[in-house]
Amino acid sequence: GMEDYLTNLMNRTSFDNYLTETFQLRSFQKQALAILFLDIDFFKRINDTYGHLCGDEILRQFADILAKHVREHDFVARYGGEEFVIIAPMERPEQLEQLSERLRQEVEANSFQFGAQEMRITVSIGAVYIDQSASIDQHQAIDRADKLLYLAKTEGRNRVKIECVNQGT
Ligand code: GH3
Ligand code: MG
Ligand code: MG
Repeated sequence: GMEDYLTNLMNRTSFDNYLTETFQLRSFQKQALAILFLDIDFFKRINDTYGHLCGDEILRQFADILAKHVREHDFVARYGGEEFVIIAPMERPEQLEQLSERLRQEVEANSFQFGAQEMRITVSIGAVYIDQSASIDQHQAIDRADKLLYLAKTEGRNRVKIECVNQGT
């Protein structure tokens, strides 16, 4: 199917298809959109400390937080491992800042549960706002979001890095 068996979010294949469709529609829909890449910080430690089953449970709870805080027309998928992606139609770049920062804070504030064990995690986010007139293809968009995520990691994690792609940039 098109769902990720562990989290019940959409899976990677589903994301690839949706992204392609979204970029095909962009050319005549003239709709701005955002792509967010989210990667859980130091997730390997969770597995190493509490075991793989715990890691799986944290991934489910993390996915639930994402699903709960996006809007009806946003697309949420598990990109792979402990990486997730969101495609969100938007009107203004400020909305992307708000969404990204809200997700980061929700994760930081959440108490994750595995049996009697309680734990905290954080997430790093790389996000691009793509203006309706920006000439950028889906591969370039993914590449930018991925680089921003990498920047969020190297600058210390638990943070959001955003870039706006406008016409001619
Ligand atoms: P960073 O802050 O740099 O992202 O560190 P990290 O430890 O999160 O990153 P790294 O890529 O080194 O480790 C990701 C870990 O995610 C390694 C892998 O075992 C774990 N992982 C990937 N998929 C699953 C899964 O389905 N279940 C569980 N339990 N762990 C998973
Ligand atoms: Mg990763
Ligand atoms: Mg990680």
